[in-house]
Amino acid sequence: MTGGSETPPYIPVASADLSGSEERYVVEAIRSSWISSTGKFISRFEEEFAILCGAKCAIAACNGTVALHLALLALDVRPGDEVLVPSLTYIATANAVRYVGAEPVFVDVDPDTWCIDPKLLEASISRRTKGIIAVHLYGHPADMDSINHVAAVHGLWVVEDAAEAHLATYKGRPVGSLAKIATFSFYGNKMITCGEGGALTLDDSQLELRLRTLRGQGMDPERRYYFPVTGYNFRLTNVACAILCAQLERKTHILESRQRVFSRYTELLQGIDGIHFQPIANWARTSPWLFCITVDAQAYGRSRDELMTLLDEQQIETRPFFLSLHRLPPFRESSRVRGEFLPVTDHLSSTGMNLPTFTNLDDTHIERICKIIRSGRR
Ligand SMILES: *Cc1c(COP(=O)(O)O)cnc(C)c1O
Repeated sequence: MTGGSETPPYIPVASADLSGSEERYVVEAIRSSWISSTGKFISRFEEEFAILCGAKCAIAACNGTVALHLALLALDVRPGDEVLVPSLTYIATANAVRYVGAEPVFVDVDPDTWCIDPKLLEASISRRTKGIIAVHLYGHPADMDSINHVAAVHGLWVVEDAAEAHLATYKGRPVGSLAKIATFSFYGNKMITCGEGGALTLDDSQLELRLRTLRGQGMDPERRYYFPVTGYNFRLTNVACAILCAQLERKTHILESRQRVFSRYTELLQGIDGIHFQPIANWARTSPWLFCITVDAQAYGRSRDELMTLLDEQQIETRPFFLSLHRLPPFRESSRVRGEFLPVTDHLSSTGMNLPTFTNLDDTHIERICKIIRSGRR
């Protein structure tokens, strides 16, 4: 705290923008009494989201983790199977693999995309490998053509975890249409949100039937109250989809406002020794989720953690990059046994951080944040 002066306003790392039709649609859902898992907002959301992702169908689910779990169930992943995942991702990616009794095998990320490195996949494939989950990390699409190629050669499926990459494109094609199944999250800090929510997108109608059956307690969608398989209650409510429909109406505004935040940061943080930006491949159009920087402690004179503390003292919330999953207690022993060595993941995990990013983060706040980062160099 600076002596005597007033406390500056608190700036969170993320904040949802619900200023459009969100409230009106929620009221509409309540007044109609359709508040459970049937209703017009669910079908409207599923139709619109499928189109947005260039997929034949979208299926709403209660969150992004559940969407991943459903994908693995529908692909018949079983105990003893292995699934290749990046180690630099949110824990949900690897947790979902464990829910079906399978083992996540960690692969390092590509320094040019920060996503799973297609060149390293082959070395991690064993006789037990069933598929690959490619995460579009921090809004940047993974190199899907190369990943799909390796998968095809080895008879593996690919799932896109697109939780952080709404509206991003890969070689002009939208994420959500680039693998067997894609999953999305609409958690409160994601670019499109309904508080808690998720979705799957896909083209295969057989898989769609399986997913809808598994999502709804195993009930045959064509025969009410008949249950051919053990399913789950992984549905999303009409109230949540009311919020999502309103968010989709404003997707262009949300996207452009966040792009403005990204451009301001890029402009104002340019040329500071030791502060580096997220690389963007020439085939990628990224999703402006959370602005990323990495801190080279030698050149900047302060470590990432020291910079986070400095900002925190000025009421600015930031967030460190994900911890390397292969070092966390649930995974570290099996990772050690496999001899995993993931230097790019470890490096990014210890040097990267996210800066506040949301639609109504105003320019004066961005300027204040950048000034602190610039003058923090020693
Ligand atoms: C947010 C996120 C998820 C999980 O989403 P929830 O809706 O919070 O369950 C999965 N994967 C990644 C990469 C995420 O960032």
